[in-house]
This record gives sequence, C-alpha cells and structure tokens, in this order.
Amino acid sequence: MATIRARCADCGDVELTTADVQVRICSDTNAGTYGFMCPTCQGMVVKSAEPRTLDLLVASGVACSMWSLPAELGERHEGEPICHDDLLDFHDLLNDEYKLSMALADLADR
Ligand SMILES: [Zn+2]
Repeated sequence: MATIRARCADCGDVELTTADVQVRICSDTNAGTYGFMCPTCQGMVVKSAEPRTLDLLVASGVACSMWSLPAELGERHEGEPICHDDLLDFHDLLNDEYKLSMALADLADR
C-alpha cells in the first residue's frame, strides 16, 4: 500500500496510506477534492486539487467517488425570491391548522 504525505492545517505534514484518503469528483464540473482524517488531531481535512493530482491518487489505489450537482440548480424559478416576511408568514401558517389545511387543499387543487 502506497504512503501518501499530506498536510493538515493544524498538525503540518502527516503520512497516510491509500486507504486513509478519499477522492471525490463532481461529474458536472470535473472539480475534485481529496480528504482524510488527520491521524494526529482526528480532524477532517478536505482539499481541492488539480485533476492530475487526483488521477495520481486514484492510480495509486485511493478510492474515488463521483457526485453530481443537485438537479434543483437547473430548475427555472419564477417570481421574487422569498424574504424574511414570507418565512414569518409560513411559520404562522404552520401553527394554524385550519389555515394550513386550506393552503394544502389549495395546492392539491392546482
Ligand atoms: Zn491534524
């Protein structure tokens, strides 16, 4: 198993094995990170890296997982963004069972 030297912001250089490191790559942007739990302070360390570095880590045996951006980012939104008053109205609505049931019935009718 290969030894990997990485840097923890608090502890400095630490030595890890390939099993201690994980690579994560976004399938939409190809941006990637590697992460590990620091063996000294037990803190999680996550750093972005160039594709070449990530390729080297994966080639040496580091596990790689892909993730994708949430589909909600591609949704088209209409109307004004919600504001603080909207949240207060929603909070009041949640505390009024009659108004809440009427609002849910209105949504079901659409
Ligand atoms: Zn550390």
